[in-house]
Amino acid sequence: MPRALVIPAPGSLGLEEVDRLVPGPGEVVARPLYVGICGTDLELLAGVVDPAYVRYPLIPGHEWSGVVEVTGPGVTALSPGQHVIAEGIVPCRVCASCVRGLTNLCETYDELGFTRAGAAADQVLVPAQLVHPLDDSVNLVVAALAEPAAVAWRGIGRGKPRPGERVAVVGDGTVALTAAHLLALFSPAELVVFGQRPAQAGLAIALGAMAFETETGPDPMGFDLVVEAAGTASAVERAFGLARRGGRVVLLGLAGHDVRAQFPVDDAVNNDLAILASFGYTSAAFGEVAALLRTGQIRLGPLVTHRFALEKYTDAYEALRSGTGVRGKVMLEL
Ligand SMILES: [Zn+2]
Ligand SMILES: [Zn+2]
Repeated sequence: MPRALVIPAPGSLGLEEVDRLVPGPGEVVARPLYVGICGTDLELLAGVVDPAYVRYPLIPGHEWSGVVEVTGPGVTALSPGQHVIAEGIVPCRVCASCVRGLTNLCETYDELGFTRAGAAADQVLVPAQLVHPLDDSVNLVVAALAEPAAVAWRGIGRGKPRPGERVAVVGDGTVALTAAHLLALFSPAELVVFGQRPAQAGLAIALGAMAFETETGPDPMGFDLVVEAAGTASAVERAFGLARRGGRVVLLGLAGHDVRAQFPVDDAVNNDLAILASFGYTSAAFGEVAALLRTGQIRLGPLVTHRFALEKYTDAYEALRSGTGVRGKVMLEL
């Protein structure tokens, strides 16, 4: 019997035996090999995610890479044994947002690991349209970071980085460090990560940041583009203070349902700031990340600092919870 990590209801988590999956028309059953867990998974376990975005009992796992096991009727572009990643957001493809290409804003929210079974299991069922094949040469541990990379990539795209610019990232968690790594692809003149935990400095540099700072100082620092990926009110305020006049600020972090940040109205207007935010990722952004993986341009290996066998899920969740030491991505191995 295949195993699956199951959250029957908020507060409990266990490994269960589940029925073998059979793909329907246009579907694929894949065998996940690496499954990343993140802060959102902790929130799903705690039961603090907006009920509109989750359905229990839930098999978590929205960041993964794996191998095609069985293809359903009508699936011609994929075959068993192929290494794959897959988009987790399942867009309807017919609503006004989807038709505009903004599949992240689909009117019908549906996502693996939230409203339908995720990949923390021996098998996962995915619509074939969302599956992106990879060459065997792509490291599947790194490929399991495609989902957070797509989130960062879509946000970066909103900020339109250009070579030679001064770029700052606020935050030192996985999405922030991933954003820094991807921003380096645009050849910035300066790329500084502003974090809180000095222990993350080495990781930030290894992933392509040119400097890691914990202090910002009172004066504006003149960055052309600032990407906020910490998800706290103070990080948002910090991001506004780092931008130059005429600069762009992209907000990526979720701070929690009722959290409000102080908005420097006059500074924003006087400084002619472009303020943008980004939710999830579009199909296009995920496809671009898949292409970057295939061509070896995403080298996030150092980000995976913790690996646990699926049976050790309790240790994995605990490692994610504890804020001490260097912490990148926590990964389950199947
Ligand atoms: Zn995540
Ligand atoms: Zn739609």
